[in-house]
Amino acid sequence: MKTADITIIGAGLAGSEAAWQVAERGYSVALYEMRPHRATGAHASQDCAELVCSNSLGSNLPDRASGLLKAELRRMGSLCIACADQCAVPAGGALAVDRDGFAALVTQRLTEHPRIQLIREEVQALPPTPSIIASGPLTSEALAAALAAFTGQEHLFFFDAISPIVTADSINFDRAFRASRYDRSEQPGGDYINCPLTRDEYERFIDALLAAERIPLHAFELIMEQGVTAGAHRFFEGCLPVEIMAARGREALAFGPLRPVGLRDPRTERRPYAVLQLRQDNQAASLYNLVGFQTNLRFPEQKRVFGLIPGLEAAEYVRFGQMHRNTFIAAPRLLEPTLQFKSRSDLWCAGQITGAEGYAGNIATGLLAGINAARYRQGQPPCRLPRETMLGALCHYITHAPLDEFQPMKANFGILPPLDGPPIKGKRERAARYAERALHTLDTQRSDRDRQD
Ligand SMILES: Cc1cc2nc3c(=O)[nH]c(=O)nc-3n(C[C@H](O)[C@H](O)[C@H](O)COP(=O)(O)OP(=O)(O)OC[C@H]3O[C@@H](n4cnc5c(N)ncnc54)[C@H](O)[C@@H]3O)c2cc1C
Repeated sequence: MKTADITIIGAGLAGSEAAWQVAERGYSVALYEMRPHRATGAHASQDCAELVCSNSLGSNLPDRASGLLKAELRRMGSLCIACADQCAVPAGGALAVDRDGFAALVTQRLTEHPRIQLIREEVQALPPTPSIIASGPLTSEALAAALAAFTGQEHLFFFDAISPIVTADSINFDRAFRASRYDRSEQPGGDYINCPLTRDEYERFIDALLAAERIPLHAFELIMEQGVTAGAHRFFEGCLPVEIMAARGREALAFGPLRPVGLRDPRTERRPYAVLQLRQDNQAASLYNLVGFQTNLRFPEQKRVFGLIPGLEAAEYVRFGQMHRNTFIAAPRLLEPTLQFKSRSDLWCAGQITGAEGYAGNIATGLLAGINAARYRQGQPPCRLPRETMLGALCHYITHAPLDEFQPMKANFGILPPLDGPPIKGKRERAARYAERALHTLDTQRSDRDRQD
C-alpha cells in the first residue's frame, strides 16, 4: 500500500469529505477507491461522491433536521456541501443537485489537492497504519470479511430499495401538473411534477401493486451476498419498497409517499385523493425520479403497474427501481462518538457503514472522522461534538443505541436533548429553537477549541 499520513478506504460521500478535511489540515491522504476495476452494483460511474439513488440531499431549510445538519456542515467547511450548493437544481426547500455535475466537481477538487492521492484499487485487509474505513453500504466482500474478523462478530446486514427515474417528455401533462407542496417553490409553476389520483384510481393501483410480480428475494440474496456472511435479513424501515408498504395496509401509501397534503390539482381546483411527486434529477430537467417509490417489482411490472398512475401511462424508464445490499457495523458496541474504534485508536469509521443514514449524515460523519484523524496525527485529543448539535447527536445516537434493535438513523430533532424552559407548542417554533441552540453551541465550541489549539 502507498504510504501517507492517513489512508482512507472508499471515495464515496464520507471518504471524499474525510480526505478533504485531513488534507486541509496539512496531512497527506492515500484515498483508495475500487471503482472502476470493481463495481458495487449500484454506482454507475467512476467518480468520487456519486449519489447512487435520489439526487436530493434532503431539506435545506434551517428549521428542518437535515437542513440544520447542512448548516452545521457549512460552518465546519464541508467540501461536499459546498460542491452541492454549486450544483443545485430547483427542489423547493430541498438541496437537490445535478448528480453528474456534483460528483465531477468533488472528484476534480480532490484530485487537484496536492496532499490527496486517489488510488484506484480495492483494499482487502485493514491497513496497519492510521486509517478511515468509508467503504459504504456496498463494501466489497473481502473487506467486509476482514472487518468481520476484526470486530469479532457478524455484520448486521439487510436490504434497501431504490426508486425509478423516467424521462420528462414521456410524462402526460394532460393529467400531471407542476407544483410544490404549499406553493414552496423556486420556479414559476412549482419544482415538482405531480401525478394526481382519484380514489378509484388509487384503489385500482393498489390492487395491481399487491398482485404484481416481485423479484424473488432468495434469488436477489444469492446475487447480493456473494459469499459475505449473512447476518439478519430485514428491510430498513425508512426505505421500504412501495409493495411492502401497501401490503401492510391499503391506505399506507396515501399517508406515505402518495400523501396529497399541500397540493391542489389545477384541473379540479381540489386536493386529489393521492399524489405521486416526481423530482428533477438532472440540470437539464430531462429526467425525473419517482419520490419515495422504492420497489423490487420485476422491471416489466414496474412499467405496467406504475403506468396506472395518471401521467405515467407511457412513461419511459431510464432506471428501474431495484433492491440492494446495505451493510453496517454494530456501532454501539464498536465505536466512540468520535467515530474512533474503541479497540484501535488509529482507526475510524465514516458514512453509511457506521449506521448514520442518508447522504447528509454520511458526509457529516466523513467530516468528523477526517477532523479526528488529523487531530490524532497532530497529537491533539479528538473532537467530541456537543449533543446539542445535530452531528453530535447523530454520533451519540449511533454509538449508544440499544444494540439488539440497532437500525441506521437519519438526522432528526428527536435525538437532540430537550430544550430548557417552558415547553414550546408549535412544531416549527420548537425546531427553530433547536437549530438556534445547535448553531450557537457549535460556534462556542469551535471558538473555545481554536483558543486551546
Ligand atoms: C442503492 C442505494 C441507494 C441509496 N439511496 C439513498 C438515497 O436516495 N438517499 C439517501 O440519503 N441515502 C441513500 N442511500 C444510503 C447512503 O446515503 C448512500 O449509500 C451513500 O452513498 C453512502 O455514503 P458512503 O460514503 O458511506 O458510501 P458510498 O457513497 O457507497 O462510498 C463508498 C465507496 O467505497 C468504495 N469501496 C467499497 N469497498 C471498497 C474497498 N474494499 N476498497 C476500495 N473502495 C471500496 C465504493 O466503490 C464506494 O465508492 C442509498 C444506498 C444504496 C446502496
